[in-house]
Amino acid sequence: MKQSHYDYLVVGAGISSAVFVHEAAKLGKSCLIIDRRDHIAGNIYTEEVEGINVHRYGAHIFHTSLRPVWDYVNQFAEFNNYVNSPVAVYKDELYNLPFNMNTFSKMWGIRTPAEAVEIIERQKAEAAELIGNGEPANLEEQALSLIGRDVYVKLVKGYTEKQWGRSCTELPADIIKRLPVRLTYDNNYFNDRWQGVPMGGYTTMVRRMFGDAEIQLSTEYREFKEQNPDIADRTIYCGPIDEYFDFKLGTLEYRSLRFETETVECENWQGNAVVNYTEREVPYTRIIEHKHFEKQESPVSVITREYPADWKPGDEPYYPINDERNSKLYAEYEQLAKQEGNVVFAGRLGGYKYYDMDKAIDAAFDLVKDELGIDLRA
Ligand code: FAD
Repeated sequence: MKQSHYDYLVVGAGISSAVFVHEAAKLGKSCLIIDRRDHIAGNIYTEEVEGINVHRYGAHIFHTSLRPVWDYVNQFAEFNNYVNSPVAVYKDELYNLPFNMNTFSKMWGIRTPAEAVEIIERQKAEAAELIGNGEPANLEEQALSLIGRDVYVKLVKGYTEKQWGRSCTELPADIIKRLPVRLTYDNNYFNDRWQGVPMGGYTTMVRRMFGDAEIQLSTEYREFKEQNPDIADRTIYCGPIDEYFDFKLGTLEYRSLRFETETVECENWQGNAVVNYTEREVPYTRIIEHKHFEKQESPVSVITREYPADWKPGDEPYYPINDERNSKLYAEYEQLAKQEGNVVFAGRLGGYKYYDMDKAIDAAFDLVKDELGIDLRA
């Protein structure tokens, strides 16, 4: 440590803290950032393997309709024109995503939106007959009533069951509220106004945001704080909120993921960055071929298989489970957090929320406004 005292101790070196630290530095505030990992950028970390920028914690595509957020990130990186157009493999069939006219044409051998609507409506009516007058009792019934049998069986069922580790008939209906159908030949997965991947990777972008701020890696908050109780006036804590309070009210639950990355002796392995595997029998949900995000050239390729996994304390927390138990527990921790003087909880772990990157940045804008009095949306 260069100083014995800082204005802020910032726990976590992810994108949420990077926004805060960048703005604090502009006001001349000193920040010490610590992270338990041995690298910066949190879950959006990209590392170079065989000259290819590999997304270590899963595929990350930046997409947003929030202009202030888009303008903000463009200060730190040049975004390419990557458009996310995943494909899905079901047995030996291959379909475009999201569900659109390319998907329907392949599935039913049709050409026009009217033909697709007719088939979908017929299959929805069949589902309604099956369900009867009541509300869908589970996720399977919900999906059947929203999209019909064919798309559900081939593209929703197996993938969802792998994601949650449970059968669709045992999952609550409200996990799926909508299954958007696009009646055009448009494979762009996102509807957002802006989209891309930072050229050179996310880690470079986050490093630029941190600027000259001091960062101490492989450092656990609890031990560090015990050894340095008076290190800062205030703390911005982007770690798990329940862990901060030593799980005294209970443990907030997550779904986890396991990644298996390998280098393959092949210039172009699957022809697309993201390929989903929608049948249950294949144990992974996706294979990512990283070079396609930035159209990087290399005689070899790096691919990652993504396996959904149960979570237990100590595993990487990826997706919060926002069911009744966990939402209630989080609300109780939130009350405790409000009483904690000089500590502000932020980021996806501090707020126990799934945030896309743009929403994490937008939430950090609120933090900057409350804490530093700067309105980044003005
Ligand atoms: P994090 O990046 O998790 O940073 C928190 C940091 O705090 C971590 O580095 C952690 O090590 C550190 N930390 C925690 N506790 C402690 C402690 N006690 N002591 C020290 N350090 C600690 N968003 C998109 O917009 N597009 C996508 O395509 C996309 N894909 C995703 C794919 C997956 C598989 C997942 C899980 C998320 C995806 N996201 C995507 C969301 C994106 O990852 C998040 O928005 C972003 O990472 C949130 O950043 P953060 O700074 O809040 O948290």
